[in-house]
Amino acid sequence: MFGEFRYFALAELNLKTMASISFWGAAGTVTGSKYLIEADHARVLVDCGLFQGMRELRERNWQEPPFNAASVDAVILTHAHIDHTGYLPRFVQHGFRGPVYCSRGTADLLNILLPDSARLQEEEADYRNRHKITKHLPALPLYTEQDAREALKLLQVVKNTGGAFQVVKGIQAEFRLAGHILGSSHVLVLVDGAGDDRRGRSILFSGDLGKYDQPIIRDPVAPPACDYLLVESTYGNRLHDSEVPKDALERIIKEAAAHNSAILIPAFAVGRAQEIVYLIRELEEEKRIPILPVSVDSPMAAAATRAYARPTDEHDEEYAAALKITPTPLRTHSMIAASTREESKRLNKAEGARIIIAASGMMNGGRILHHALRLLPDENAIVVFVGYQAAGTLGRRVADGIPVRCRIEKIGGFSAHADWKEVVRWLEDMPAPPRRVFVTHGEPDAADAMAGHLRDRFGWQIEVPQYGEKFQLE
Ligand SMILES: [Zn+2]
Repeated sequence: MFGEFRYFALAELNLKTMASISFWGAAGTVTGSKYLIEADHARVLVDCGLFQGMRELRERNWQEPPFNAASVDAVILTHAHIDHTGYLPRFVQHGFRGPVYCSRGTADLLNILLPDSARLQEEEADYRNRHKITKHLPALPLYTEQDAREALKLLQVVKNTGGAFQVVKGIQAEFRLAGHILGSSHVLVLVDGAGDDRRGRSILFSGDLGKYDQPIIRDPVAPPACDYLLVESTYGNRLHDSEVPKDALERIIKEAAAHNSAILIPAFAVGRAQEIVYLIRELEEEKRIPILPVSVDSPMAAAATRAYARPTDEHDEEYAAALKITPTPLRTHSMIAASTREESKRLNKAEGARIIIAASGMMNGGRILHHALRLLPDENAIVVFVGYQAAGTLGRRVADGIPVRCRIEKIGGFSAHADWKEVVRWLEDMPAPPRRVFVTHGEPDAADAMAGHLRDRFGWQIEVPQYGEKFQLE
């Protein structure tokens, strides 16, 4: 009898293994997302993002990873953006060999984004070598296109409609639509039989949460119940403009037509570029604006547009209906897609009212730079910011008011991120309160503000974790 009791007690103990979560990115910043879940039997990394922006942050990309890459069993990716995935090739260099789970849309976009990220790294190293601005000769890229291809081989596509799958023994995950970009998901990770027997623990990662009523893709779906919640706070201290983005675009385009102005829109090639083109086309069809030449100066945007056009149940009803009428709802009536460098440079010769959409969205590299060089000093030009500008980028400096001659417009409503009220709205649909909440993915003021909003609204216990901080999952 005694022996049996002891056995039972041990079995109970074994069911409740130790587990922890530690924060290796998107803590005190919006970039470098990396969350490590450690259980007795497995280690899983959620997101594997590159640090961007400030030099102190970017240097972390070059340091030894703070945990052994080879000891991580699997990676889960919430979505394709480089600040959530761009460290993956480096992580593989450091010895990671496990599967990388992501949605179909994320895999499609990663096939565009990761090799591009590698090319940027290679170009930067090349530039440093040519201009001898490096401490280490020769300067090496953080990773090469070949490294990116190796990382892509590890991708395993999973459904993002809520069904659980096994990540490694003892750890399961479920993906649900997050409405941020194609493929974006919020992910519930279940450690040790969480769910029916409730002896395990469940951790919900919001990923980047989309804004409601965005064009093209569906709204975020309601979050499931969880023990621990990680919620993003990019817009924790701000609300989006109340001006409807489409109306703002109409106003600016009409003004440009009246004054023969060039409009320059720095836009993320993935997601934002497609939304802008889609809305311009709608405005043209509704005869609310004159038809101006639109140049999408980004081969990556062209590739992403093809991914967005592939049939998927992530499309909202309006876009799915538009796709049935025309296979190209992501083209305006007078559109040039510049794919070669020569085509890109030729755009500089154009005159008169026109719209140029180019990447990168934060003006920290890419073809936007040569357009900016010409148009920032042009007092007749209009630069339109349509997305978040991280600290340390040229876009942030221009948006914050470094002296330029052109006119600056900001359309806040275009953000791919929910603002704090929308995050609260999303969490109101959670069926039961979480035991503990971690606010991540925000600059310090934004994260603190989000924590305050959630405490006020829900009375939850909230942490704002620091870089490297670790918490036991009880
Ligand atoms: Zn994102």
